[in-house]
Amino acid sequence: MPEPELTMTIGGEPVIAKSLLEVRNPATGMVFATVPDAGHTELNAAVIAARDASKAWSRKTWPERASIVTRIGETVAHHAAELAAMLTREQGKPADQAMTEIMTAAHWLRSTATLTLPDRETEMAPGRHHITRYVAIGVVAAISPWNFPVALSAFKIGPALLAGNTMVLKPSPFTPMTMLRIGELVRDFVPAGVLNIISGGDALGPLMTAHPGFDKVSFTGSTSTGKRVMAAAASSLKSLTLELGGNDAAIVLPDVPVEETAQKVFHSAFANSGQICIATKRAYIHEDIYDEFRDALARIVKDANVGDGSETGITHGPIQNRRQFDRLNDLISDCESNSFTLIRGTVPCGTGYFMPLTLVDNPPETSRIVQEEQFGPILPLIRFRDVDDVVARVNHSDFGLAGTIWSTDIDVALKLADQIETGNIWINEAFALSPFASFAGHKQSGLGVENGIEGLMAYTKPKTYFVGR
Ligand code: NAD
Repeated sequence: MPEPELTMTIGGEPVIAKSLLEVRNPATGMVFATVPDAGHTELNAAVIAARDASKAWSRKTWPERASIVTRIGETVAHHAAELAAMLTREQGKPADQAMTEIMTAAHWLRSTATLTLPDRETEMAPGRHHITRYVAIGVVAAISPWNFPVALSAFKIGPALLAGNTMVLKPSPFTPMTMLRIGELVRDFVPAGVLNIISGGDALGPLMTAHPGFDKVSFTGSTSTGKRVMAAAASSLKSLTLELGGNDAAIVLPDVPVEETAQKVFHSAFANSGQICIATKRAYIHEDIYDEFRDALARIVKDANVGDGSETGITHGPIQNRRQFDRLNDLISDCESNSFTLIRGTVPCGTGYFMPLTLVDNPPETSRIVQEEQFGPILPLIRFRDVDDVVARVNHSDFGLAGTIWSTDIDVALKLADQIETGNIWINEAFALSPFASFAGHKQSGLGVENGIEGLMAYTKPKTYFVGR
Protein backbone atom coordinates (compact mmCIF):
# COMPACT_ATOMS: atom_id res chain seq x y z
CA MET A 1 0.00 0.00 0.00
CA PRO A 2 1.43 3.47 -0.85
CA GLU A 3 2.27 5.56 2.20
CA PRO A 4 0.47 8.88 2.68
CA GLU A 5 2.54 12.06 3.00
CA LEU A 6 1.28 12.65 6.52
CA THR A 7 -0.13 10.54 9.32
CA MET A 8 -3.15 11.01 11.53
CA THR A 9 -2.64 11.34 15.28
CA ILE A 10 -4.71 8.87 17.31
CA GLY A 11 -3.88 8.16 20.94
CA GLY A 12 -0.56 9.96 20.48
CA GLU A 13 0.50 7.56 17.73
CA PRO A 14 0.94 7.99 13.96
CA VAL A 15 -1.88 6.16 12.17
CA ILE A 16 -2.65 5.58 8.50
CA ALA A 17 -5.84 4.16 6.98
CA LYS A 18 -6.71 1.40 4.52
CA SER A 19 -7.34 3.96 1.76
CA LEU A 20 -5.92 7.30 0.71
CA LEU A 21 -7.47 10.70 0.12
CA GLU A 22 -6.01 12.83 -2.67
CA VAL A 23 -5.18 16.46 -2.03
CA ARG A 24 -5.17 18.93 -4.93
CA ASN A 25 -3.29 22.18 -5.27
CA PRO A 26 -6.00 24.67 -6.35
CA ALA A 27 -3.41 26.73 -8.24
CA THR A 28 -2.87 23.81 -10.65
CA GLY A 29 -5.95 21.64 -10.09
CA MET A 30 -3.54 18.69 -9.78
CA VAL A 31 -3.20 16.09 -7.03
CA PHE A 32 0.08 16.73 -5.20
CA ALA A 33 -0.25 14.65 -2.03
CA THR A 34 -2.22 11.91 -0.34
CA VAL A 35 -3.36 11.61 3.26
CA PRO A 36 -5.18 8.82 5.15
CA ASP A 37 -8.85 8.39 4.33
CA ALA A 38 -10.27 7.40 7.70
CA GLY A 39 -13.43 5.33 8.00
CA HIS A 40 -15.34 3.66 10.85
CA THR A 41 -12.32 1.78 12.21
CA GLU A 42 -10.01 4.78 12.53
CA LEU A 43 -12.82 7.01 13.85
CA ASN A 44 -13.70 4.44 16.52
CA ALA A 45 -10.03 4.21 17.52
CA ALA A 46 -9.86 8.01 17.84
CA VAL A 47 -13.05 8.18 19.92
CA ILE A 48 -11.82 5.41 22.23
CA ALA A 49 -8.45 7.17 22.64
CA ALA A 50 -10.21 10.47 23.44
CA ARG A 51 -12.56 8.80 25.94
CA ASP A 52 -9.68 6.95 27.63
CA ALA A 53 -7.74 10.19 28.03
CA SER A 54 -10.74 12.22 29.18
CA LYS A 55 -10.77 11.60 32.93
CA ALA A 56 -7.06 12.17 33.55
CA TRP A 57 -7.04 15.28 31.37
CA SER A 58 -10.07 16.84 33.06
CA ARG A 59 -8.46 16.22 36.46
CA LYS A 60 -5.28 18.05 35.59
CA THR A 61 -5.07 21.52 37.04
CA TRP A 62 -6.10 24.50 34.94
CA PRO A 63 -2.46 25.79 34.77
CA GLU A 64 -1.27 22.33 33.64
CA ARG A 65 -3.74 22.31 30.77
CA ALA A 66 -3.02 25.98 29.99
CA SER A 67 0.68 25.20 29.65
CA ILE A 68 -0.03 22.44 27.10
CA VAL A 69 -2.32 24.73 25.07
CA THR A 70 0.37 27.45 25.19
CA ARG A 71 2.96 24.95 24.01
CA ILE A 72 0.79 23.92 21.06
CA GLY A 73 0.64 27.62 20.12
CA GLU A 74 4.41 27.98 20.49
CA THR A 75 5.02 24.89 18.37
CA VAL A 76 2.77 26.24 15.62
CA ALA A 77 4.68 29.57 15.70
CA HIS A 78 8.05 27.79 15.74
CA HIS A 79 7.19 25.81 12.60
CA ALA A 80 5.35 28.69 10.91
CA ALA A 81 7.44 28.74 7.72
CA GLU A 82 6.91 25.05 7.00
CA LEU A 83 3.22 25.18 7.92
CA ALA A 84 2.52 28.33 5.88
CA ALA A 85 4.13 26.83 2.75
CA MET A 86 2.00 23.69 3.16
CA LEU A 87 -1.11 25.81 3.69
CA THR A 88 -0.50 27.75 0.48
CA ARG A 89 -0.14 24.52 -1.50
CA GLU A 90 -3.33 22.93 -0.23
CA GLN A 91 -5.51 26.02 0.30
CA GLY A 92 -4.18 28.36 -2.39
CA LYS A 93 -3.84 31.58 -0.37
CA PRO A 94 -0.79 33.79 -1.03
CA ALA A 95 2.29 33.02 1.07
CA ASP A 96 2.12 36.13 3.27
CA GLN A 97 -1.55 35.49 4.03
CA ALA A 98 -0.83 31.84 4.83
CA MET A 99 1.80 33.04 7.29
CA THR A 100 -0.75 35.44 8.82
CA GLU A 101 -3.18 32.55 9.30
CA ILE A 102 -0.54 30.37 10.97
CA MET A 103 0.52 33.18 13.31
CA THR A 104 -3.14 33.97 14.06
CA ALA A 105 -3.66 30.35 15.10
CA ALA A 106 -0.56 30.51 17.33
CA HIS A 107 -1.73 33.80 18.86
CA TRP A 108 -5.23 32.39 19.48
CA LEU A 109 -3.90 29.30 21.26
CA ARG A 110 -1.50 31.28 23.45
CA SER A 111 -4.06 33.96 24.27
CA THR A 112 -6.88 31.52 24.99
CA ALA A 113 -4.57 29.76 27.44
CA THR A 114 -4.57 32.92 29.59
CA LEU A 115 -8.34 32.76 30.15
CA THR A 116 -9.78 31.39 33.39
CA LEU A 117 -13.25 30.37 34.54
CA PRO A 118 -13.35 30.82 38.32
CA ASP A 119 -16.09 29.19 40.41
CA ARG A 120 -19.05 31.45 41.21
CA GLU A 121 -20.03 31.42 44.84
CA THR A 122 -23.21 33.05 46.20
CA GLU A 123 -24.47 33.22 49.76
CA MET A 124 -28.15 32.16 49.99
CA ALA A 125 -28.52 32.72 53.74
CA PRO A 126 -26.05 32.99 56.63
CA GLY A 127 -24.02 29.76 56.52
CA ARG A 128 -25.64 28.50 53.32
CA HIS A 129 -24.25 29.08 49.86
CA HIS A 130 -24.09 27.68 46.39
CA ILE A 131 -21.05 27.27 44.16
CA THR A 132 -21.19 26.89 40.40
CA ARG A 133 -18.20 25.24 38.76
CA TYR A 134 -17.66 24.97 35.01
CA VAL A 135 -16.75 21.37 34.27
CA ALA A 136 -15.63 19.79 31.01
CA ILE A 137 -18.29 18.36 28.69
CA GLY A 138 -16.23 15.30 27.70
CA VAL A 139 -15.18 14.34 24.18
CA VAL A 140 -15.56 16.93 21.44
CA ALA A 141 -15.91 16.29 17.69
CA ALA A 142 -14.40 19.31 15.92
CA ILE A 143 -15.15 19.80 12.21
CA SER A 144 -13.61 22.68 10.27
CA PRO A 145 -13.93 24.14 6.74
CA TRP A 146 -11.38 24.75 3.97
CA ASN A 147 -11.13 28.54 3.95
CA PHE A 148 -9.07 28.94 7.17
CA PRO A 149 -8.26 25.34 8.05
CA VAL A 150 -5.70 26.17 10.72
CA ALA A 151 -7.07 29.31 12.38
CA LEU A 152 -10.62 27.95 12.61
CA SER A 153 -9.33 24.68 14.09
CA ALA A 154 -7.27 26.64 16.64
CA PHE A 155 -10.47 28.50 17.67
CA LYS A 156 -11.76 25.08 18.81
CA ILE A 157 -8.64 23.35 20.15
CA GLY A 158 -7.67 26.12 22.61
CA PRO A 159 -10.86 26.49 24.64
CA ALA A 160 -11.89 22.82 24.39
CA LEU A 161 -8.61 21.50 25.79
CA LEU A 162 -8.21 24.31 28.32
CA ALA A 163 -11.64 23.52 29.79
CA GLY A 164 -10.66 19.86 30.23
CA ASN A 165 -12.20 18.20 27.17
CA THR A 166 -10.46 15.84 24.80
CA MET A 167 -10.99 16.14 21.06
CA VAL A 168 -11.15 14.41 17.71
CA LEU A 169 -10.58 17.04 15.03
CA LYS A 170 -11.37 16.57 11.36
CA PRO A 171 -10.24 19.24 8.90
CA SER A 172 -12.00 19.61 5.53
CA PRO A 173 -11.21 16.88 2.96
CA PHE A 174 -10.01 19.72 0.69
CA THR A 175 -7.41 20.98 3.19
CA PRO A 176 -6.36 18.22 5.59
CA MET A 177 -2.58 18.54 5.46
CA THR A 178 -1.55 21.45 7.67
CA MET A 179 -3.65 20.27 10.61
CA LEU A 180 -2.34 16.70 10.23
CA ARG A 181 1.20 18.14 10.30
CA ILE A 182 0.39 20.10 13.47
CA GLY A 183 -0.82 16.82 14.99
CA GLU A 184 2.56 15.29 14.20
CA LEU A 185 4.42 18.24 15.70
CA VAL A 186 2.59 18.25 19.05
CA ARG A 187 2.36 14.48 19.51
CA ASP A 188 5.34 14.18 21.82
CA PHE A 189 4.06 16.57 24.51
CA VAL A 190 0.23 16.52 24.33
CA PRO A 191 -0.88 13.58 26.51
CA ALA A 192 -1.96 10.62 24.35
CA GLY A 193 -5.61 10.79 23.27
CA VAL A 194 -6.18 14.43 24.27
CA LEU A 195 -5.94 15.79 20.72
CA ASN A 196 -6.62 13.31 17.93
CA ILE A 197 -6.49 14.62 14.35
CA ILE A 198 -8.00 12.51 11.58
CA SER A 199 -8.57 13.02 7.85
CA GLY A 200 -11.14 11.56 5.50
CA GLY A 201 -13.52 12.19 2.64
CA ASP A 202 -17.13 13.36 2.56
CA ALA A 203 -18.37 10.33 4.50
CA LEU A 204 -16.32 11.03 7.64
CA GLY A 205 -18.17 14.13 8.90
CA PRO A 206 -21.57 12.40 9.05
CA LEU A 207 -19.94 9.39 10.76
CA MET A 208 -18.60 11.73 13.44
CA THR A 209 -21.82 13.61 14.12
CA ALA A 210 -23.75 10.33 14.40
CA HIS A 211 -21.14 8.68 16.66
CA PRO A 212 -22.51 8.11 20.18
CA GLY A 213 -19.02 8.48 21.68
CA PHE A 214 -19.00 12.27 21.34
CA ASP A 215 -20.52 14.62 23.92
CA LYS A 216 -20.25 17.77 21.84
CA VAL A 217 -19.90 18.77 18.19
CA SER A 218 -18.16 22.02 17.36
CA PHE A 219 -18.77 22.70 13.69
CA THR A 220 -17.73 25.49 11.34
CA GLY A 221 -19.07 25.34 7.80
CA SER A 222 -22.11 26.12 5.70
CA THR A 223 -25.63 26.62 7.04
CA SER A 224 -26.99 23.70 5.02
CA THR A 225 -24.40 21.30 6.49
CA GLY A 226 -24.93 22.85 9.93
CA LYS A 227 -28.59 21.81 9.79
CA ARG A 228 -27.55 18.22 8.99
CA VAL A 229 -25.07 18.31 11.87
CA MET A 230 -27.78 19.50 14.24
CA ALA A 231 -30.17 16.76 13.13
CA ALA A 232 -27.49 14.08 13.56
CA ALA A 233 -26.45 15.41 16.96
CA ALA A 234 -30.01 15.02 18.21
CA SER A 235 -29.69 11.21 18.27
CA SER A 236 -27.63 11.32 21.47
CA LEU A 237 -28.45 14.92 22.43
CA LYS A 238 -24.90 16.18 21.89
CA SER A 239 -24.05 19.72 22.88
CA LEU A 240 -23.53 21.93 19.81
CA THR A 241 -21.64 24.95 18.59
CA LEU A 242 -22.41 25.89 15.00
CA GLU A 243 -20.51 28.66 13.18
CA LEU A 244 -22.22 28.91 9.80
CA GLY A 245 -22.60 30.98 6.67
CA GLY A 246 -23.46 34.62 6.13
CA ASN A 247 -24.46 37.23 3.58
CA ASP A 248 -22.74 40.18 5.21
CA ALA A 249 -23.64 43.65 4.02
CA ALA A 250 -21.46 46.75 3.92
CA ILE A 251 -23.38 50.02 4.24
CA VAL A 252 -21.41 52.95 2.84
CA LEU A 253 -22.76 56.35 3.90
CA PRO A 254 -22.19 59.44 1.73
CA ASP A 255 -19.80 61.20 4.14
CA VAL A 256 -16.86 58.79 3.67
CA PRO A 257 -13.55 59.63 1.97
CA VAL A 258 -14.15 57.66 -1.22
CA GLU A 259 -10.69 56.39 -2.27
CA GLU A 260 -9.62 55.34 1.24
CA THR A 261 -12.94 53.66 2.06
CA ALA A 262 -13.05 51.88 -1.30
CA GLN A 263 -9.66 50.29 -0.44
CA LYS A 264 -11.03 49.07 2.87
CA VAL A 265 -14.32 47.80 1.46
CA PHE A 266 -12.37 46.05 -1.30
CA HIS A 267 -10.28 44.27 1.33
CA SER A 268 -13.40 43.36 3.34
CA ALA A 269 -14.91 41.68 0.26
CA PHE A 270 -11.98 40.18 -1.63
CA ALA A 271 -9.45 39.08 1.02
CA ASN A 272 -8.83 35.32 0.73
CA SER A 273 -10.54 35.68 -2.67
CA GLY A 274 -13.83 36.35 -0.89
CA GLN A 275 -13.74 32.95 0.83
CA ILE A 276 -14.36 34.29 4.33
CA CYS A 277 -17.52 33.77 6.34
CA ILE A 278 -17.38 37.41 7.46
CA ALA A 279 -16.42 38.87 4.07
CA THR A 280 -18.60 41.63 2.66
CA LYS A 281 -20.94 39.78 0.31
CA ARG A 282 -23.08 42.76 -0.81
CA ALA A 283 -22.17 46.46 -0.65
CA TYR A 284 -24.91 49.09 -0.32
CA ILE A 285 -23.50 52.43 -1.43
CA HIS A 286 -25.32 55.73 -1.04
CA GLU A 287 -26.43 57.17 -4.37
CA ASP A 288 -24.57 60.48 -3.79
CA ILE A 289 -21.22 58.69 -4.09
CA TYR A 290 -22.22 55.49 -5.89
CA ASP A 291 -20.57 56.16 -9.28
CA GLU A 292 -17.36 57.55 -7.79
CA PHE A 293 -17.14 54.66 -5.29
CA ARG A 294 -17.81 52.00 -7.96
CA ASP A 295 -15.11 53.50 -10.20
CA ALA A 296 -12.60 53.55 -7.32
CA LEU A 297 -13.37 49.88 -6.58
CA ALA A 298 -13.05 49.04 -10.28
CA ARG A 299 -9.53 50.48 -10.40
CA ILE A 300 -8.49 48.40 -7.38
CA VAL A 301 -10.05 45.24 -8.85
CA LYS A 302 -8.14 45.74 -12.11
CA ASP A 303 -4.84 46.25 -10.22
CA ALA A 304 -5.18 43.02 -8.21
CA ASN A 305 -2.83 40.18 -9.07
CA VAL A 306 -4.66 36.83 -9.07
CA GLY A 307 -2.42 33.77 -9.33
CA ASP A 308 -0.55 30.93 -7.68
CA GLY A 309 -0.11 31.95 -4.05
CA SER A 310 3.39 30.51 -3.90
CA GLU A 311 4.63 33.07 -6.46
CA THR A 312 5.79 36.52 -5.37
CA GLY A 313 3.53 39.51 -5.89
CA ILE A 314 0.28 37.55 -5.90
CA THR A 315 -2.46 39.36 -4.00
CA HIS A 316 -5.30 36.86 -4.50
CA GLY A 317 -5.10 33.08 -4.79
CA PRO A 318 -7.39 30.65 -6.63
CA ILE A 319 -10.79 29.38 -5.53
CA GLN A 320 -10.00 26.57 -3.15
CA ASN A 321 -11.78 23.68 -4.86
CA ARG A 322 -13.53 22.65 -8.04
CA ARG A 323 -16.96 22.37 -6.40
CA GLN A 324 -16.84 25.98 -5.23
CA PHE A 325 -15.30 27.15 -8.53
CA ASP A 326 -18.25 25.63 -10.44
CA ARG A 327 -20.76 27.20 -8.02
CA LEU A 328 -19.22 30.63 -8.52
CA ASN A 329 -19.14 30.27 -12.29
CA ASP A 330 -22.80 29.34 -12.16
CA LEU A 331 -23.50 32.61 -10.30
CA ILE A 332 -21.53 34.53 -12.96
CA SER A 333 -23.59 32.81 -15.70
CA ASP A 334 -26.75 33.86 -13.88
CA CYS A 335 -25.52 37.48 -13.84
CA GLU A 336 -24.65 37.29 -17.55
CA SER A 337 -27.95 35.77 -18.56
CA ASN A 338 -29.70 38.62 -16.73
CA SER A 339 -27.48 41.15 -18.54
CA PHE A 340 -26.05 42.62 -15.33
CA THR A 341 -22.96 44.78 -15.88
CA LEU A 342 -19.81 43.00 -14.68
CA ILE A 343 -16.51 44.75 -13.98
CA ARG A 344 -13.76 42.12 -13.94
CA GLY A 345 -10.06 41.82 -13.29
CA THR A 346 -7.75 39.33 -15.00
CA VAL A 347 -6.53 35.80 -14.30
CA PRO A 348 -3.48 33.81 -15.40
CA CYS A 349 -3.79 30.99 -17.93
CA GLY A 350 -3.58 27.44 -16.65
CA THR A 351 -5.49 24.63 -15.04
CA GLY A 352 -5.87 26.30 -11.64
CA TYR A 353 -9.23 27.40 -10.26
CA PHE A 354 -8.60 31.07 -11.00
CA MET A 355 -11.50 33.47 -11.06
CA PRO A 356 -11.25 37.18 -11.93
CA LEU A 357 -12.22 39.53 -9.10
CA THR A 358 -15.66 40.74 -10.15
CA LEU A 359 -17.95 43.66 -9.32
CA VAL A 360 -21.62 43.48 -10.30
CA ASP A 361 -22.97 46.96 -11.00
CA ASN A 362 -26.28 47.55 -9.22
CA PRO A 363 -28.10 44.23 -9.75
CA PRO A 364 -31.70 44.03 -8.45
CA GLU A 365 -32.18 43.25 -4.77
CA THR A 366 -33.92 39.99 -5.70
CA SER A 367 -31.05 38.66 -7.86
CA ARG A 368 -29.23 35.50 -6.82
CA ILE A 369 -25.92 37.34 -6.43
CA VAL A 370 -27.49 39.63 -3.79
CA GLN A 371 -29.60 37.00 -2.03
CA GLU A 372 -27.18 34.02 -1.87
CA GLU A 373 -23.89 33.58 -0.02
CA GLN A 374 -21.41 33.57 -2.92
CA PHE A 375 -18.29 32.84 -0.81
CA GLY A 376 -15.96 33.98 -3.56
CA PRO A 377 -14.56 37.05 -5.35
CA ILE A 378 -17.83 38.46 -6.74
CA LEU A 379 -19.23 41.59 -5.09
CA PRO A 380 -22.62 43.08 -5.96
CA LEU A 381 -22.75 46.88 -5.52
CA ILE A 382 -26.22 48.19 -4.76
CA ARG A 383 -27.29 51.83 -4.92
CA PHE A 384 -29.43 53.16 -2.04
CA ARG A 385 -31.02 56.47 -1.11
CA ASP A 386 -32.87 55.98 2.16
CA VAL A 387 -31.22 54.60 5.31
CA ASP A 388 -34.40 52.98 6.69
CA ASP A 389 -34.89 51.23 3.37
CA VAL A 390 -31.32 49.93 3.35
CA VAL A 391 -31.67 48.62 6.91
CA ALA A 392 -34.79 46.70 5.88
CA ARG A 393 -32.99 45.24 2.86
CA VAL A 394 -29.91 44.27 4.87
CA ASN A 395 -32.06 42.57 7.50
CA HIS A 396 -34.22 40.78 4.96
CA SER A 397 -32.05 37.66 5.16
CA ASP A 398 -32.04 34.32 6.94
CA PHE A 399 -28.37 34.99 7.73
CA GLY A 400 -27.20 37.15 10.62
CA LEU A 401 -23.45 36.69 10.85
CA ALA A 402 -21.81 40.11 10.53
CA GLY A 403 -21.63 43.36 8.60
CA THR A 404 -19.80 46.65 8.26
CA ILE A 405 -20.82 50.32 8.37
CA TRP A 406 -18.68 53.04 6.82
CA SER A 407 -19.13 56.65 7.96
CA THR A 408 -17.10 59.48 9.47
CA ASP A 409 -19.92 60.04 11.98
CA ILE A 410 -19.44 57.32 14.59
CA ASP A 411 -22.68 58.19 16.45
CA VAL A 412 -24.71 57.77 13.27
CA ALA A 413 -22.88 54.52 12.49
CA LEU A 414 -23.50 53.16 16.00
CA LYS A 415 -27.25 53.99 15.81
CA LEU A 416 -27.36 52.20 12.46
CA ALA A 417 -25.44 49.23 13.92
CA ASP A 418 -28.17 48.90 16.60
CA GLN A 419 -30.66 48.19 13.84
CA ILE A 420 -28.64 45.53 12.00
CA GLU A 421 -29.64 41.97 12.91
CA THR A 422 -26.23 40.32 13.08
CA GLY A 423 -24.00 38.92 15.82
CA ASN A 424 -20.99 41.01 14.82
CA ILE A 425 -20.64 44.44 13.29
CA TRP A 426 -17.61 46.52 12.40
CA ILE A 427 -17.51 50.27 11.94
CA ASN A 428 -14.88 51.60 9.51
CA GLU A 429 -12.93 48.34 9.62
CA ALA A 430 -13.40 44.65 8.90
CA PHE A 431 -12.32 41.23 10.21
CA ALA A 432 -11.04 42.56 13.56
CA LEU A 433 -11.60 39.42 15.63
CA SER A 434 -10.05 38.84 19.06
CA PRO A 435 -9.47 35.74 21.17
CA PHE A 436 -11.03 37.77 23.99
CA ALA A 437 -14.22 38.88 22.15
CA SER A 438 -17.32 36.72 21.67
CA PHE A 439 -18.12 35.73 18.10
CA ALA A 440 -21.62 34.46 17.45
CA GLY A 441 -23.83 34.24 14.38
CA HIS A 442 -27.46 35.30 14.76
CA LYS A 443 -30.43 33.81 12.86
CA GLN A 444 -29.30 30.91 10.64
CA SER A 445 -25.64 31.93 10.83
CA GLY A 446 -25.01 29.91 13.92
CA LEU A 447 -25.80 28.57 17.32
CA GLY A 448 -23.65 29.32 20.34
CA VAL A 449 -20.46 31.30 20.63
CA GLU A 450 -16.76 31.00 19.83
CA ASN A 451 -13.90 33.00 21.38
CA GLY A 452 -13.71 34.97 24.61
CA ILE A 453 -15.10 33.83 27.95
CA GLU A 454 -18.44 32.81 26.40
CA GLY A 455 -16.58 30.73 23.83
CA LEU A 456 -14.67 29.01 26.63
CA MET A 457 -17.88 28.42 28.59
CA ALA A 458 -19.32 26.71 25.52
CA TYR A 459 -16.92 23.83 26.22
CA THR A 460 -18.19 23.46 29.80
CA LYS A 461 -21.32 22.50 31.70
CA PRO A 462 -22.24 24.38 34.84
CA LYS A 463 -22.33 22.15 37.92
CA THR A 464 -23.83 23.67 41.04
CA TYR A 465 -23.17 22.61 44.62
CA PHE A 466 -25.68 23.73 47.25
CA VAL A 467 -23.89 23.80 50.58
CA GLY A 468 -25.87 23.85 53.84
CA ARG A 469 -24.70 24.29 57.37
P1 NAD B 1 -19.14 22.64 4.44
O1 NAD B 1 -20.34 22.80 5.30
O2 NAD B 1 -19.29 22.06 3.11
O3 NAD B 1 -18.05 21.74 5.18
C1 NAD B 1 -17.53 22.06 6.45
C2 NAD B 1 -16.99 20.81 7.10
O4 NAD B 1 -18.08 19.92 7.36
C3 NAD B 1 -15.99 20.01 6.27
O5 NAD B 1 -14.99 19.51 7.14
C4 NAD B 1 -16.85 18.88 5.70
O6 NAD B 1 -16.10 17.72 5.41
C5 NAD B 1 -17.81 18.62 6.85
N1 NAD B 1 -19.09 18.03 6.48
C6 NAD B 1 -19.70 18.04 5.27
N2 NAD B 1 -20.91 17.43 5.36
C7 NAD B 1 -21.05 17.02 6.64
C8 NAD B 1 -22.10 16.36 7.36
N3 NAD B 1 -23.23 15.98 6.76
N4 NAD B 1 -21.91 16.11 8.67
C9 NAD B 1 -20.78 16.51 9.30
N5 NAD B 1 -19.76 17.15 8.67
C10 NAD B 1 -19.90 17.41 7.36
O7 NAD B 1 -18.47 24.09 4.38
P2 NAD B 1 -17.20 24.55 3.55
O8 NAD B 1 -17.61 24.61 2.11
O9 NAD B 1 -16.01 23.76 3.95
O10 NAD B 1 -16.98 26.04 4.11
C11 NAD B 1 -17.65 27.15 3.60
C12 NAD B 1 -18.81 27.55 4.47
O11 NAD B 1 -18.37 27.69 5.81
C13 NAD B 1 -19.41 28.87 4.10
O12 NAD B 1 -20.81 28.80 4.16
C14 NAD B 1 -18.90 29.82 5.19
O13 NAD B 1 -19.68 30.96 5.39
C15 NAD B 1 -18.86 28.91 6.36
N6 NAD B 1 -17.92 29.40 7.37
C16 NAD B 1 -18.42 29.90 8.55
C17 NAD B 1 -17.56 30.43 9.50
C18 NAD B 1 -18.07 31.02 10.80
O14 NAD B 1 -17.29 31.16 11.73
N7 NAD B 1 -19.34 31.36 10.91
C19 NAD B 1 -16.18 30.42 9.26
C20 NAD B 1 -15.72 29.90 8.06
C21 NAD B 1 -16.60 29.38 7.12
